[in-house]
Amino acid sequence: MNFAVQKAFNTPLINLGWMADEKEVALLVPSRVQSPSSITTYKKCPRKYFYSYIEELPSKPSIHQLRGSVVHAVLDKFFATNVQGVSQDNAVNFFRNAVQDLLVSEWKSAQPKMHELGVVEADEMRFFEETLLMVFNWLEGFFVRFSAESGSVQDVFHRLTPLRELSYVSDEHWVRGIIDVIEQHGAETRVMDYKTSNHSNVDEYKLQLAIYSLLFFEKHKKLPDRAGIYFLKDNTTKFVSVDHELLDFAKREIELIHQNTFSKEKKFYPKHISSLCKWSTGQCDFYDVCVKDV
Ligand code: SF4
Repeated sequence: MNFAVQKAFNTPLINLGWMADEKEVALLVPSRVQSPSSITTYKKCPRKYFYSYIEELPSKPSIHQLRGSVVHAVLDKFFATNVQGVSQDNAVNFFRNAVQDLLVSEWKSAQPKMHELGVVEADEMRFFEETLLMVFNWLEGFFVRFSAESGSVQDVFHRLTPLRELSYVSDEHWVRGIIDVIEQHGAETRVMDYKTSNHSNVDEYKLQLAIYSLLFFEKHKKLPDRAGIYFLKDNTTKFVSVDHELLDFAKREIELIHQNTFSKEKKFYPKHISSLCKWSTGQCDFYDVCVKDV
């Protein structure tokens, strides 16, 4: 990675509780390459960011995170399916079987980690059925696009196959992101992310989509036409408006996180006590450390 451009921030430092002198400001360079995930963690709880990204304390994935990884792998591998010999008559069944087989295979791979988490069989079964419904819902949307196209199964499948899991890094802004899919809908380019969460509020993901749009813009010198989320549980697709205001929003948030995470001292990362600390079925990864900490 080329980080030759080390950006020195000359704006006043905010939310740090201290002011650097001019010399310190001139020497400031971001402490790390940020991501939508690290920025979101900081915004939810600066102390959690400290434990996770500065102290690098180990964290266990939750069943929800494991399920998210399984679904991402299934939808990624789906587009690598060998469709030779598939005809229009058996295409629907073929794709249903393909997605189901992929889910079973990915689920089996994730099972040891689920068992480590102590997920009981009844809960695992419930999660599996819910996940199967998610990928089948997504497949229905794929079929809508598929049936609107003309040509052989192979040609259409090839045409609808998006770019996947693309890693972008901005040397200028010290931020990176992995974009789930970049799709072409006619002349329209869409930057899309899959979510398996219970809620489908696209505004919660505005920052992530803004950063993806910024990364896309920097690399391709044009804005994506649309940026949105496939909410797989609700089977809805939602978008944010993509314009230069969105990019400015991303730039402001990125600059703020670099400013706020310059120090490695814990005192600059206050706890934000909220329902995310402990809830009925789980707790923050760092709860046990955090409750004993000042
Ligand atoms: S337990 Fe709460 S306050 Fe502590 S790090 Fe986690 S979210 Fe933040």
